[in-house]
Amino acid sequence: MSDTEDTHEHEYEHEFDQSDSSPTGPTPVESAEAFDGLNADLRPGADNCYKCTSCDTSCPVAEVDDEFPGPKFQGPEQWRLKRKEDTDIDESIMSCSNCMRCDDACPSSVPLSQMHNTARGEYVEGMDKFSREYIRNRILANYGTLARIGSRVPRLTNAIMGNRVTKWFNERLLGITSEREFPEFAHQTFRKWWNDRGGSQVTSEQKRIAYFHGDYSNFNTPEVAKALVRVFESFGYEIAVPEQRCSGTPMFANGMLADARRAAKFNVETLSALVEDGYDIICSCTSCSMALRQEYPELFDFEGTGEVAAHTYEAVEYLRLHEDLEGELHDSDSEIDHPALAYHAPCHARNQGLHRQALELFRTLDGVDIEDVGDSCSGISGTYGWKSEKYDYSMEIGEEMFEEMKDAEGTTGMTECPTCAMQMKHGTGYEINHPLEVIEAALT
Ligand code: SF4
Ligand code: SF4
Repeated sequence: MSDTEDTHEHEYEHEFDQSDSSPTGPTPVESAEAFDGLNADLRPGADNCYKCTSCDTSCPVAEVDDEFPGPKFQGPEQWRLKRKEDTDIDESIMSCSNCMRCDDACPSSVPLSQMHNTARGEYVEGMDKFSREYIRNRILANYGTLARIGSRVPRLTNAIMGNRVTKWFNERLLGITSEREFPEFAHQTFRKWWNDRGGSQVTSEQKRIAYFHGDYSNFNTPEVAKALVRVFESFGYEIAVPEQRCSGTPMFANGMLADARRAAKFNVETLSALVEDGYDIICSCTSCSMALRQEYPELFDFEGTGEVAAHTYEAVEYLRLHEDLEGELHDSDSEIDHPALAYHAPCHARNQGLHRQALELFRTLDGVDIEDVGDSCSGISGTYGWKSEKYDYSMEIGEEMFEEMKDAEGTTGMTECPTCAMQMKHGTGYEINHPLEVIEAALT
C-alpha cells in the first residue's frame, strides 16, 4: 500500500453494521412499509392536471427516446389508471432520468417528480432482484458504498477502474457504459483533510453552518469541499462537518427507495440536531440540496424532516442571502486563472430557482467573461448516462450544451453539479470548475 493510500481514515465503518449488510448486492428490497411515499394519496395532485402537455414538451428524454411516453403519462395518467383499474406500473418509468424539469414546467403544481419517484419505487419492488438491470441499478444507486471501499486504496482502484478489461466487464456483464472514464478517487478524502486540519478554524456563536458535502465532494473532488470551507471561513463562519450518508439522489432515480429511506433517516436525525443548535445546512451540490429540500419532505415523514428542509441552502445562494459576496469579489485584487467561463445551470438548480445566480454573480466582475451555454439538460442526469442502453440518448440530449460550450470564449466550463461536470468534460474535453472554486480563487 502506498503512503497516500494509508492516509485514509476508516470514516464510515459503522455504516456496514446496518440492517442492509450488502448494500450493493442483490439483497431483497424491503417491503412497501420501508417507503412512506407508497402510501401517499397523490390523487388530488393527479386531478390538478389539465393535460396542457407543458411537461411533455420540457422532457429531454421524451425528445430523444420515442419509446418514452413522457411525464404526463408517468405522473397523472398512471395515477388515474391505477385508481380505476389497479394496473401495474409501466416499465417505462425506469427510463425517466429524474431530471425534474417537468416539475418546473407544470403550471398546475402537479407533483410530478413525487409521482415518478413513488411509481419507480413500486416498480422496483416488483423487479427480479437477480436481474442484470436490478443489480446494475443498485450498484449505481449506491455509488457511495463503492467509493468508501475504493477510496481506501485510491491509486489501485483508479488503475483497476480505468482498465480496459474492467470497462469491458462493466459493459458486458453489468450494462454500465464503457464509453465514459470512471471518475478518479482523490488520494486524500475531504473528511481526512478536514480532520487533519483540526476541523473549523473559526468559532462563532452567530454564524454557524453544517456542511453536507455528499459523496462526490468527499471522495472525488475534495477541492470543491475545501473551497467551500475556505470561502465560508473567510466570511467568519464556524463550520461543522457532520457524519452523513448519500443524499439519496441516485437512489431516487433508480427506485431504490428502501436504500434512500435509510440514508435519509440518518441524515435527518444528524442534521436536525444541528439545526436545533442554530446551524444552517449548506450543500455544494444542487442535487443534494434538492434532495434535502424537496424529495425528503415529499417521500418521508421522519421527525425533523421539515426543519432540515427549511434550513437547507446551496452554498452560493446562502452567501448571496447573508453576505455581500458581490462586494467582496469586486474589492478583491486576486485574479482568476481562467476568466472565460462556459456556465451550465444543472436541471436541479433550475428547479430551486438557482439557475441565474452564477451568471449574475460573475457577469459583473472585471476581467471575467461568463457565458450561459443554454437551458438544455446536460443529458447525464446522475446515473442515467452511465447505463449502456441510455448512453447514446444521454449524448444526444447533451449535444446542444456541447455545441454552446464549443462556441463560447475560452475552454473552461463551470457548473454546480458533479455529474453535469462529468458530462461537460466528456463532451468537450474542457476543464470544469465549481463556482466555489472560482470564488475561492478570487477571494484568496
Ligand atoms: S423527470 Fe425529467 S426525464 Fe423524468 S419525466 Fe420529468 S422531465 Fe422527463
Ligand atoms: S404540465 Fe402539469 S397540467 Fe400540464 S399536462 Fe403536465 S402534469 Fe398536466
